[in-house]
Amino acid sequence: MLKEKKMDNYINVKFKSIAENESLSRMIISGFIMPLNPTVDELTDIKTSVSEAVTNCVVHAYENNEGLIEMSATLRDNILEIEIKDTGVGIEDINIVKKPLYTTKPEQERSGMGFTIMESFMDSLVVLSQKGKGTVVRMKKYFKEDKYIDE
Ligand code: ATP
Ligand code: MG
Repeated sequence: MLKEKKMDNYINVKFKSIAENESLSRMIISGFIMPLNPTVDELTDIKTSVSEAVTNCVVHAYENNEGLIEMSATLRDNILEIEIKDTGVGIEDINIVKKPLYTTKPEQERSGMGFTIMESFMDSLVVLSQKGKGTVVRMKKYFKEDKYIDE
């Protein structure tokens, strides 16, 4: 018999801003959304977006210094909300950096597509930042109601 299995959940993790933790963040978010039975596309979209946001913290927020990245994920009423936070250098003008192909690190072969990818793969993207204080990237993905129906 089919019954509705609505699940709300929340996690909050902090990890060091090292490149190795990009794959860790992808694994954490994959495990978190597994009960939603995501499609391959949904899983790829979410993992890629998290990866882009975490990479930005490692590469831009802390540059060559070490810092902490905080990731939280909330699942409520079919909506997945992910927040990736750093206390690094911050961004002066968010509207400029969100533009496709805009990068401050062209010499490192950055293509300036991170925010564009997050924006197109997720259903909403909000970036809050203060110069010298840090940055918060908040992304949402809406899941279909029947994702919760299970045996
Ligand atoms: P790509 O993601 O394609 O490798 P990129 O990281 O430069 O290149 P975006 O991810 O779109 O491109 O970011 C654009 C710019 O925004 C960066 O070049 C950087 O200047 C700034 N930025 C992004 N995230 C942060 C952050 N967490 N802290 C400080 N600056 C950031
Ligand atoms: Mg990037």
